[in-house]
Amino acid sequence: MIRSVLSASLVMPVWQHGAFRVEGLDEDAFTLGLGALRQLGPQLQTEGARALRRLHVVGSFPSEVEWAFGEALGIPLLEVRRHAPSAPALWGALAAAAHDEGSNGREAVVAADLASISVGPSGSPVVQGGAGAVAFLLGSEPGLAVLQHGFHGHPAGRPPSIKGVVSGWLNALDLPKGRGAGEAVLSVEYEAARWSAIWEEMAPGISVTLVDTPANGAGSMVHAARLLWELGRRLRTGALGVVGESVRGRSGFAGFRLDGPVRWLGSWGPGGPGLHPSGGKFLERNVTLNAVSQGAYVPYPRYLENLASRWRLVGERCLHCHALTFPMAGRCRSCGRSGNAHAETLSRDGLEVVAVTTISPGAQPTEFDPMVEAGGGYDVALLSLGPECRATVQVTDTLPGQLRVGDRVGLVLRRLYPMEGEWRYGLKAVPERSDVGSPGVGLTVHSPARRRQGPSSSVPTGRRATPRERGGPKARRRRPGR
Ligand SMILES: [Zn+2]
Repeated sequence: MIRSVLSASLVMPVWQHGAFRVEGLDEDAFTLGLGALRQLGPQLQTEGARALRRLHVVGSFPSEVEWAFGEALGIPLLEVRRHAPSAPALWGALAAAAHDEGSNGREAVVAADLASISVGPSGSPVVQGGAGAVAFLLGSEPGLAVLQHGFHGHPAGRPPSIKGVVSGWLNALDLPKGRGAGEAVLSVEYEAARWSAIWEEMAPGISVTLVDTPANGAGSMVHAARLLWELGRRLRTGALGVVGESVRGRSGFAGFRLDGPVRWLGSWGPGGPGLHPSGGKFLERNVTLNAVSQGAYVPYPRYLENLASRWRLVGERCLHCHALTFPMAGRCRSCGRSGNAHAETLSRDGLEVVAVTTISPGAQPTEFDPMVEAGGGYDVALLSLGPECRATVQVTDTLPGQLRVGDRVGLVLRRLYPMEGEWRYGLKAVPERSDVGSPGVGLTVHSPARRRQGPSSSVPTGRRATPRERGGPKARRRRPGR
């Protein structure tokens, strides 16, 4: 079965630092990649003949993604294949997804960049590359067909002959010198003018567009995907396209042919500024996974037990009295019957804020200490999930104190806190807003004065005044006796 790219999705974190978008303290490659996959929308099907069967992950993903993507998407038998984090590997993953013989059904490719943060000469953190994630969905319908691809390494300081590289790519695509018509989008680190001239000489029918490396602060995965978007915008139906990248140590290319429409979802073009974080230590990413929290302890088996409710908002509808029980408890909360219910997935979008509280630094449960120390306080909102159901969740991707009763939010999966050497994840609310990314929102807000004096293990007095603030529908499950 041959597949083509049917749609492509790009997500960037809302947080801005200098020229770069930087992932929030509760984001990682998994949550960014999941955001890009979910943005593909209803084309990403979980069952039936067009269900997603296999996922190719490109980048530095935690080991949990081998089961966590399938769990978060509600596709229990999703097969995950890993690829190295590089532009040629992304194109190779697209080719693998397009030409996989061993499966039928749809395949997807997801790739993510985390911000590249190093310590500058003054000892303060410096951002050198931005964060973001892309996802591609491939199916048997006509779309962007994936042809040949390849790459080779070369020693740093001894770049290859440009003529040799271009002629190799043209031969691989079966385009003998001077023949063929289409578009090429290239990103080269050196001698851009010579690359252009050599293309014009060797392949006069193929127009060349040069893209800076890397454009607008993007990381390498997002950059490689943007080359494809540039190509997709330029290609006419039936035409041949080539993307190529030549950087220190490596040159790679991939060939495509546009057979049908491709949906490009998300912020592919140049975006506006994001939000400036309020926490003064936002860039210091030194949370230790083995920190022992004095707060709530949730054993790993219990965490895994109810992920459908915690991650996908699945509840149970009683077949006898029609009451909804959320989170799932195996027994109707209204009539008490068990074993007589079917799963019902609640909507995660357009949820109304019923109440909202700001948790100032010092008032948080101790498992959130590292996140609050780095990023400042946060809001907790009570949401209406439907006529019979409410949930308390943490709010993210906004500055504390901005959300109002009556606002609409959506739910996204994010990191909660580290426990037993791993991150635990849960749903958090993000404001539904069109203003992020448009000019004028990039306000710098200073973090409120810290009230807390004692060590992080002391129980802050503010804690009892903020009931069930731990974020996520899981909060209720933690009460003893349930
Ligand atoms: Zn019932």
